[in-house]
Amino acid sequence: MAKPALPNLQSALADLHAATRGRLLASDHPSYEQTRRSFNAMAAGRPVAILQPDDTADVVAAVTWATDVDVAIGVRGGGHSVAGHSAPEGGLLIDLSKWRGAEVDPAARTAVALGGSRLMDLDAATTAYGLAAPSGTFVDTGIGGLTLSGGISYLVASEGFACDALIGAQLVTATGEVIDVDDQREPDLMWGLRGGGGNFGVVTHLRYRLADVTQVAGGRINFRGDGVPRVIERVIALEQHAPDSLSLQMLARRWPDDGALGLTLLVAWRGDPAEGAAALREVVADPSRIDGDVRPMNWLQVQALNPPLPFGLRHYWKGHLVRETPQDLADAVVDASREIRGRSVILIELIHGAAHRIPAATAAFGGRAAVANVTALAIWADPGDDETQIQWSRRTAARIEPFSLRGGGYLNYSELDLSASRVAAGFDAPSFDRLRRLKRIHDPTNRFRFNANIPPAS
Ligand SMILES: Cc1cc2nc3c(=O)[nH]c(=O)nc-3n(C[C@H](O)[C@H](O)[C@H](O)COP(=O)(O)OP(=O)(O)OC[C@H]3O[C@@H](n4cnc5c(N)ncnc54)[C@H](O)[C@@H]3O)c2cc1C
Repeated sequence: MAKPALPNLQSALADLHAATRGRLLASDHPSYEQTRRSFNAMAAGRPVAILQPDDTADVVAAVTWATDVDVAIGVRGGGHSVAGHSAPEGGLLIDLSKWRGAEVDPAARTAVALGGSRLMDLDAATTAYGLAAPSGTFVDTGIGGLTLSGGISYLVASEGFACDALIGAQLVTATGEVIDVDDQREPDLMWGLRGGGGNFGVVTHLRYRLADVTQVAGGRINFRGDGVPRVIERVIALEQHAPDSLSLQMLARRWPDDGALGLTLLVAWRGDPAEGAAALREVVADPSRIDGDVRPMNWLQVQALNPPLPFGLRHYWKGHLVRETPQDLADAVVDASREIRGRSVILIELIHGAAHRIPAATAAFGGRAAVANVTALAIWADPGDDETQIQWSRRTAARIEPFSLRGGGYLNYSELDLSASRVAAGFDAPSFDRLRRLKRIHDPTNRFRFNANIPPAS
């Protein structure tokens, strides 16, 4: 019979404190409120306590404690889950956000990063050797959540998703077992960590295969006005025949001053910068361009094309991984953009090249066949705008749905009220079944349930 959850909280927390060396914050600790806050101010879950572990032994002790007292566990890496997965209401939050850093083996072209590292930690370590892992495009995002659920970056066309570059991990499972995971020793778990999210335990270390980024170019190019729909079409057309060296993303927006349509095109080119500039010449020449171009830069500059977004704003993100990019989709994006209010944007991350060629069987990740991730990012500050912004994001996702790969979105950009059916739609059916069987083996009681949750197979 299951024990009642925490019949005596104080003494249970005293046990946890005694069993760990890290920092334990109960709800009456002066730093609790500040520490529990995550990126999305809408994600206001209150953990029963927060543990900032010192080492893997602390993680093992915390997982064991949670099992003993029957409390669910939430894990935080960079705290960027817009769905609120790292703000676990009533759970124990294992907060790895102070646990950062990466070490590179330049000869092997690999890097090992601690589970709470941000993209910037990995980038800073690898760039010194002219190397990089495919990760994401906002440097303060956590590599943990991002990699385990996919990872779309400026290297997506040449190296695939971040999870494709994940070649090993140290995992603390729900039973407190520490497992070194790689394709040789734990092929099933390795497959599951490449896209199955934080369902299998706490990943304390992530090992990546690195790629050469000594010669790169990039740009953040802004367009404004009636020419924006034409630019969106051109970029989509360009991408359809683009080489692996080119990665393109678009942010459709409205300019705050007069509500004119706006578009930010993010370009990354791997190779001779002059060739990169030539590939984009026609788009850059569009009369609606107001600033920006493609120029040589180093990898850290490419990664900094997007300025970090501050914690504490309100977010509701919803969208679809799409199977094709026809004219109707571009029209739907433009129509939805006309209704944008404030800071909200529609993000279009185009996907081609190596991302499609890597054999699907190597990873659980369900977005490989998608040609784009199109997500409405509702971003606002005033709680009075909650309803308007959420409805806009949902309406936009509904407009994109006819082009959806399987009716699901990119799980890293999940909405706050992510449903079980949208999680399932994030995977093909055989992979979802396999993930459920894997979950039954490693987390049969669903201790790790604050995530895009894979229910254990019954
Ligand atoms: C501003 C912003 C920019 C973004 N840009 C990109 C982008 O360019 N490309 C992209 O692909 N995605 C991007 N994302 C989405 C991002 O991948 C997800 O938000 C992801 O969850 C962030 O990881 P995190 O570690 O910061 O999240 P957290 O909120 O810390 O964690 C989210 C969940 O991930 C799991 N998790 C995290 N770390 C671990 C770990 N060490 N062990 C086990 N489970 C873990 C847990 O289930 C946790 O609940 C962006 C998000 C934001 C808010």
